[in-house]
Amino acid sequence: MPIASNLWQDVLGLLKQRVDGDNYETYLSRLQFQSLEDGVLVLETASEFHRSLLMRREYDQMIAEAFAAVYDQQVDVRVEVVGEDTASDEPVAAPAVLEQPSRTSHTSIRLQHTQLSGHLTFDNFVVGESNRFAYAACRAVAEPETEAWNPLLIWGGVGLGKTHLLQAVAHEALSRSPNARVRFVNSERFINGFIQAIQRDQIDAFRATYRDVDVLLLDDVQFLFGKEGTQKEFFHTFNELHGTHKKIVLSSDRPPSEMSDIEERLRSRFEWGLIVDVQAPDLETRVAILHQKAQHSGFSLPNDVAIFIAERIKTNIRKLEGVLTSLKHHWKLTGQPISMKSVQDVLGHFVVSDEPQRVTVEHVQACVCEYFNISLSELVGKERHAKFTMPRHLAMYLCRLLTDLSYPEIAQNFSGRNHTSILHAYKKIEKQLLKDANLQVVANYLTKKIQDESE
Ligand code: ADP
Ligand code: MG
Repeated sequence: MPIASNLWQDVLGLLKQRVDGDNYETYLSRLQFQSLEDGVLVLETASEFHRSLLMRREYDQMIAEAFAAVYDQQVDVRVEVVGEDTASDEPVAAPAVLEQPSRTSHTSIRLQHTQLSGHLTFDNFVVGESNRFAYAACRAVAEPETEAWNPLLIWGGVGLGKTHLLQAVAHEALSRSPNARVRFVNSERFINGFIQAIQRDQIDAFRATYRDVDVLLLDDVQFLFGKEGTQKEFFHTFNELHGTHKKIVLSSDRPPSEMSDIEERLRSRFEWGLIVDVQAPDLETRVAILHQKAQHSGFSLPNDVAIFIAERIKTNIRKLEGVLTSLKHHWKLTGQPISMKSVQDVLGHFVVSDEPQRVTVEHVQACVCEYFNISLSELVGKERHAKFTMPRHLAMYLCRLLTDLSYPEIAQNFSGRNHTSILHAYKKIEKQLLKDANLQVVANYLTKKIQDESE
């Protein structure tokens, strides 16, 4: 339990950066951690009123996003009321697009769009060869006066800035035209909202949410594949918006030509406008991103350190951010400026290349067993003696770090444990590494050995 509640503290830490101070105090700081099991994060509040405000403002989604950003894992967020039993019936997921703001300042309007993260703006987006065209297209679409391509579809691999660009369009459109009705939604949320609306007989409210808008940004349309009912609903939403010259911006992990399990008429509509891809950033762009993110977090990164990291993490910007977070922890803990030495000493093994590797769980387990002189059944078993738990946690950690497997997949190789055990072990070792020099040495040694033997 203490480990899991620390997880929540870490997520809160990130939310504090992302959410305006007043809103953070009002909505988030009062939530208490209850449990994290089977991919469901349960939080507690003492009041139904607080809970319903949180839901109405879609903070659950924002918490899930923060969780994913910190732990690279999707969770469902549930808020439970303890100590008050005045349950009220929840309105359908998303309320009207805009309540009329009492003050017509940009911030007051923006705050109602809690699906938007404050930092995902054009200003914070580093432009390079890999994303220049996508960036320019998004800029153009965000101009209120421009009749841009409709729809605009941005596609590309994981962690290359698609969500960032879509959210930047939303921020920009709102600041240019504060009364614009702008709605950003992830496709998973769209699907869930649709299902819920059917169950609760609130389909009209659902439709209004997505059709009475000036700009609709639908993130990750690939989640619609294979969902016939939702596709149909979205098809009609699309037609209505397109027919009235409202803007539609979409993101996807692949181009329309490679989309399967999707109605042809919808697929062909995706081709009506402009299709642009985002590619993996080149070295200079990666270095610029690192500097920008470090500066944003309040510390500076020497250029040799930025290049050292950027040379190793090539394809996924989210991973670059992960390394920066580790560096930031170190910097906070020691108060020492970040240098090449500290990066290599303390974080050497964090900076693992993201090129495809052939490291297997079996190999990690074998190396850890050999090093600690224990058997495989002792390593993966349930015996809680420290002689076994430390190697076990380290093996779980190394599996997560060095293989491409998800937590649940790794968990299967540790006597079919729940995936949260792996998550906890990972977190625990990660923390311990920051203060335990011996463990650092062992982790670095094993990482190098496993990688060398896997080439
Ligand atoms: P995707 O939606 O393509 O998976 P995201 O938009 O979520 O990727 O980007 C992953 C992380 O990388 C985000 O935190 C985002 O802010 C950051 N990021 C991506 N591209 C850039 C960029 N060009 N400049 C600055 N940050 C970026
Ligand atoms: Mg995304």
